[in-house]
Amino acid sequence: MSSGCRLGKERQPQKWGAPQMKKRIADDTSLLQAIYDSSSVGIFLLDMSGRIVHANRRMADLFRYTLEELMGSEYVSLIHPLEREAGRQNMLNTMARGVGHVDVERLYRRRDGSEFWGNLTGKALVDANGRTTGLVGNIADIDQRKRTEWELAASQERFERLARTVPCVLYDYILHGDGDSRFLYLNSRCEEIFEVPAEVLMANMECFWQLVHPEDLPRLRQEEQAANRSASQFSSEIRILTPSGRQKWLRLSSRPNVIEPGQSAVWSGFMLDITQAKQLEDELRQLATTDALTGLCNRQSFLRLAEQEMARFNRAGNPASVLMLDLDYFKHINDTYGHGVGDAVLRDFSRRTGILLRQVDLFGRIGGEEFCILSPDTDQDGGLALGQRLCQTIAGQPAHCNGLTIAYTVSIGVTGFRAGDPNFDAVLARADSALYQAKRHGRNQVAQM
Ligand code: GH3
Ligand code: MG
Ligand code: MG
Repeated sequence: MSSGCRLGKERQPQKWGAPQMKKRIADDTSLLQAIYDSSSVGIFLLDMSGRIVHANRRMADLFRYTLEELMGSEYVSLIHPLEREAGRQNMLNTMARGVGHVDVERLYRRRDGSEFWGNLTGKALVDANGRTTGLVGNIADIDQRKRTEWELAASQERFERLARTVPCVLYDYILHGDGDSRFLYLNSRCEEIFEVPAEVLMANMECFWQLVHPEDLPRLRQEEQAANRSASQFSSEIRILTPSGRQKWLRLSSRPNVIEPGQSAVWSGFMLDITQAKQLEDELRQLATTDALTGLCNRQSFLRLAEQEMARFNRAGNPASVLMLDLDYFKHINDTYGHGVGDAVLRDFSRRTGILLRQVDLFGRIGGEEFCILSPDTDQDGGLALGQRLCQTIAGQPAHCNGLTIAYTVSIGVTGFRAGDPNFDAVLARADSALYQAKRHGRNQVAQM
């Protein structure tokens, strides 16, 4: 150790007498001793038999021995039995080589049996004749650092395993105040769902926007801006169009995390492929709103849509006519030809009536052989004309099914929306009365009320 150990004081060159020299040596020795004892690492010296001949206080504290107990004890006895043999070999090799130095992580064991990880650095002590006289070593307690490293590695491993396993895209997304944004993280599911590697989407946000269905993109941008303003939960359902031309439905959900105060939030969340659920939803909606025999609106969905039309009428006052239709003597068709033929006639009626209607007209099957038409923007006279056209068309051409030709007719009651009608039921009741009149007057005709 050089005189530089005299902390910061420049020493002027001067001549020294013997007493001064002795004092200086004594000063330097006590300084070294102070450094030695206050070191945060355990320092020790081994003789050629591997016994400890010097150790600092920290070394004793590390292993919970007294300095006296440590002196003369074998260094390798401090190593955990699991690593003891490797430690012994390492020590012997270092002594034998006489040069180079050791830098290893070792598991040690304290006097009370507890264990800790230490970082051992050491080198052989060589005298003026080049003979190895022992070994000097330092042990730093790295137990906490090791455990933190393991926990970090385990947590990283767990995260990666979960990220590989979850059936959705996990993401971290940053959206800056100027609208600029990018993905900071996307897991490997990305490629499966978007058919584009995660790295590509992370490198270029434009690639992501191009995958979003053009009809959903403006809404998605608005929803994300709104979520950013309120710094609350973000959720959305959008369609994407993948490079292979497939359309998929995705559910997006994320929450903001402010990592640095004053910085843009990072939105962490997931994107789940809900295409199948959406298809099922569509099928269920279809089943719930459609009449299976004719493919027309069923009673409930027709009435719901008619109520909406009525609300529109009450707001804007646009006219609308309503036609109630009932096949004549239908029981007779069933009784004569069987239920299957009756069904075919119902389908024939639906098809041929549908052809005469406009896109905006609502057409529903509201009972067994009873149908209803709501014709928006058509006054009662227009409804009457439509009814007469329908009546003539049906009567003018028979149905053909199972090689049979079946002539049938329909009776129709017509009315229109009127100011003061409390609801659609009231309109329907009027159309029904008109239908009753058409039946009473001989069927195959239209009556109005
Ligand atoms: P009207 O001219 O007075 O209307 O006489 P109708 O025979 O048509 O009237 P009614 O109400 O007595 O008979 C209706 C028949 O419609 C009775 C029922 O069995 C039949 N029906 C109801 N739903 C279906 C169906 O889905 N398929 C078939 N094939 N028949 C049905
Ligand atoms: Mg009937
Ligand atoms: Mg009938």
